[in-house]
Amino acid sequence: MDSKNEELVIEIRNLSKYFNELKAVDNLNINVFRGDVFGFLGPNGAGKSTTIRMLLTLIKPTKGSIKIFGKDLFRDRLSILKNVGAIVEKPDFYGYLSAYKNLEILGKISGHEISNKRIMEVLELVGLSDRYKSKVKTFSHGMKQRLGIAQALLHDPDLIILDEPTTGLDPMGMKEIRELIIHLSRDQKKTVFLSSHILNEVEQVANRMIIINKGTAKVEGNVKDLLDATNLSVTVEVSDVLKAGSLISESGWSEKLKGISGNRMEFNIGNQETAQLNKFFVENGVDVYSIVPTRSLEEYFLRITQEAI
Ligand code: ADP
Repeated sequence: MDSKNEELVIEIRNLSKYFNELKAVDNLNINVFRGDVFGFLGPNGAGKSTTIRMLLTLIKPTKGSIKIFGKDLFRDRLSILKNVGAIVEKPDFYGYLSAYKNLEILGKISGHEISNKRIMEVLELVGLSDRYKSKVKTFSHGMKQRLGIAQALLHDPDLIILDEPTTGLDPMGMKEIRELIIHLSRDQKKTVFLSSHILNEVEQVANRMIIINKGTAKVEGNVKDLLDATNLSVTVEVSDVLKAGSLISESGWSEKLKGISGNRMEFNIGNQETAQLNKFFVENGVDVYSIVPTRSLEEYFLRITQEAI
């Protein structure tokens, strides 16, 4: 790990939140380093939103502590939150006003000094600058979601917290949000804390992740290492499925084949094996049209913990 990554941006220690008998969050420990895109994964009801609401001081922990930028969140709340941007629930906008006007008003409400130049900058950043005059009611769900992220970015925070930002989006909208997150991390050097219940989505943007279930952590680490170590479903689309099938049956790959549908073959393999399988097909005269990881959080979870979520 290089030195720029060693600065802790979020330190969650023994964090718990009980709602009467229910342990929504139970003794959670999380480290997020500067520059991370940190995937906070878990099925519905796992405790993600409850944790995020504590990170934003919307609710108080039952036990435990949170430090952000090295400072105690509950002691230095205002100075910390000035440098945090978040979208928690579906962002709410004035439909009859333009994207620009909405950001101007929301900027004023937030109490930050936001210049007109900054409003145009964030609109550019989320790919909406050519629509700045359009009424928000004419926007797609994905565009509204990006406008929500623009709002969270207005005051140029170092840490961005996104609670399930792609919920309800179509594949195109999801892709736009993924690209935006990568841009925020790579080009804008932001630290991003991203909650999701979709492994595939987190896998494409995050460098580190934690998986929680019933309020407690099950796995934590480097996304690549965690996924490389586990065989998961991958669908390979080939030019000639008969030829591919006979090649597979004569080789060690047959043990990894789970099923065939049309010209798509599903395998249970790790990332390195995926590359080897691709090579195997191409070298033996079978073209590979696409390779798509089709693993779900449920499948991964079952593999590593032997328990269902
Ligand atoms: P996630 O965001 O991972 O879907 P949540 O944090 O929303 O999960 O919920 C975790 C658990 O806490 C769930 O069982 C949920 O019903 C419960 N819960 C969340 N908020 C409250 C609340 N205000 N009162 C009682 N129970 C709650």
